[in-house]
Amino acid sequence: MQGLMQDWSLTLDRLLDHAAQWHGAREIVTRSVEGPVVRTTYAALRDRAKQASNALKALGVQPGDRVATLGWNSDRHLEVWYGAVGIGAVLHTLNPRLFAEQLAYIVNHAQDRIILADPACAPLLETLLPQCPTVERVVFLTDAAHMPATPFKAEPYEDWIAGQSTDCAWGSFDENTAAGLCYTSGTTGNPKGVLYSHRSNYLHALMTLQTDALALSARDTALLVVPMYHANAWGVVYSAPAVGAKLVLPGQKMDGASIHELIETEGVTYSAAVPTVWQMLLEHLRATKGRLTTLKRVTIGGSACPESIIRAFHEDYGVDVIQGWGMTETSPLATVSHPDATMIGNGFEEQLPHKLKQGRLLCNLDLKLVDDAGQRLPHDGKTMGRLMIKGPTIVRAYYGGDGEVLDEEGFFDTGDISTLDATGWMQIADRAKDVIKSGGEWISSVEIENIAVGHPKCELAAVVGVPHPKWDERPLLLVKLKPGETATAADILDFLEGKIAKWWMPDEVAFVDEIPLGPTGKIDKKVIRQRLAAQ
Ligand code: ADP
Repeated sequence: MQGLMQDWSLTLDRLLDHAAQWHGAREIVTRSVEGPVVRTTYAALRDRAKQASNALKALGVQPGDRVATLGWNSDRHLEVWYGAVGIGAVLHTLNPRLFAEQLAYIVNHAQDRIILADPACAPLLETLLPQCPTVERVVFLTDAAHMPATPFKAEPYEDWIAGQSTDCAWGSFDENTAAGLCYTSGTTGNPKGVLYSHRSNYLHALMTLQTDALALSARDTALLVVPMYHANAWGVVYSAPAVGAKLVLPGQKMDGASIHELIETEGVTYSAAVPTVWQMLLEHLRATKGRLTTLKRVTIGGSACPESIIRAFHEDYGVDVIQGWGMTETSPLATVSHPDATMIGNGFEEQLPHKLKQGRLLCNLDLKLVDDAGQRLPHDGKTMGRLMIKGPTIVRAYYGGDGEVLDEEGFFDTGDISTLDATGWMQIADRAKDVIKSGGEWISSVEIENIAVGHPKCELAAVVGVPHPKWDERPLLLVKLKPGETATAADILDFLEGKIAKWWMPDEVAFVDEIPLGPTGKIDKKVIRQRLAAQ
C-alpha cells in the first residue's frame, strides 16, 4: 500500500523559493569584485536568479546542459547557480586556483557550453579558452564599467540579464535530475566528476541542518569562507536559504584582515573553512590584538584540524570549533565532532580528545572499516582500515566514468585510513596514499603534523614518507616557522617526545620557507614529494 501524502519532489529551486518567500528580507552581503561591500536580499536574489534562468534559456541552454562558473563566493555567483539548477541545467563549479591545463581537462570532459567568470579570471581564460571548443560564451560576473580587456568575446553579466523577465518556471522535474557537477582535485590521476542530483543535495542540506551537524538557523549570520566550488561550500549554498540564515560572501579576499573585518561589521555568528584559512585569521588577530565579538562557532574540515586552532579559538576568543569530515564524493559532510551525551558536563580539556577526531556519522549514512581484501575490521578505536561509506548523498559512479564504484555491499571507498570506536567516533589517520608504511605498520602523517603545528614557533607542518632501505618508509617532517622565529630540529623533536609513539618519531626535520598548498587550501603532498624527488 502506498502512503497518501502529497508528492513534493525535492528539487533545489524550492530552497531559494522558500528563502525568498518566508525570509525575503534576509540579507546576502558580498565583498564585490569591484571593491565595495554590496547588499541584497533573498527576495531580490531570486528575481535576479530568474533573470539569469531566462538569459540561459535565451542562449538555448537545455535541461542537462553544463553551465560552468569560475569565481569566488558572491551574490552574482549564487544567482547564476540557482538560475541554472532551477531550469534543470547542471551547475558546474570550476576552481580558479587550478592551472589552465587541469581546467581544460575538466571543461572538455564536462563539455561546458558557457562559463560565467569573475573578471579576475580573464588571464586564466585567455590560456584556457583556445583549448576548450565546447565553450560558446563567456560572461563576466560584473557590469560594463568593470569588464576586463580580453582578446576573446565576452559580455558583462549585468547586461546579459538586463531586460530579462523576473518570472520563470522552476522545478517540476524529477528530483533525481542532475543539479551540480564538481570535480575532485585529482591528487591521484585525472580529476573525476561528481554529479550531484537535486535529491542528493536537498537531503544533504537537511542532514547538515541538524543540531548535531552544522546547526544553521534563521538567527545565524553565516560567513561562507569555504568556496562555492569546494563541494557547494559544504552545502551551505543550499542550507542557508533553507533556514533563512543571513549570508556573508567574501569574494576573493580571504586574508585574515578582510575576513576579520567582515565578521565584525556583519555580526557573523557562524563560519566554515579549511584549517589554513583559520590559521591566517588567528595570526592576524594575534598581531592586531583583534577580538571576535559575534562569532560563536566555526566548522573546520577538509583536512584534520590541529589542536592549536581549536584551543586558540576556545581560550582566546570563546569560539567553539566543530570539526567535520567529508569529501566531494560525499556531498561533502558525513561526520561531525559534536560532543555526545557521555560528555555532558565535561570541561573543554576532557572534550578535546573527541574534538580532535572527525566525529560521528550524520543520520542517513552508514560507515564500515575494511582491510585491503575488503574484509570488515573491528570498530575498536585502534584498528586502522579503509573507510567505506554508503548513503543517498554518496557518489555511485563518476560522470563519464567506467560505471559503479561501489563494493558488493554498496559502499564507496573513501581512500581514507581511519579508526572507528565502539561508540561510533571516527578518526582519520591518513589518506591511503599519504599514510607512511614503516616496517609493515602504518604511521599517521596527519597526527604528527597536528602535534608539530602546536609548537609555538611553527606556522605549518607537513609529514611525508621517504623511502628507507630497512623500514620501507620513514617520516620526514617539514616545518615552516612563523615569521622571524628560529628553531633547531632538536627543539621540534623534543616537543613531539612523549606525544607520539617512539617509532613514529620523524627521522629528519627540514625547515622550509614554504609548504605548498593545493587548490582548496590543503597541504599539497604531491608537490612536496615532487620537490623532494627533484632534489
Ligand atoms: P581532494 O582533497 O581530493 O580534492 P576533497 O576536498 O573532497 O578532495 O577532500 C576529501 C579528503 O579530505 C578526505 O578524503 C580526507 O582525506 C580529507 N579530509 C576532509 N575533512 C577532513 C578532516 N576533518 N580531517 C581529516 N581529513 C579530512
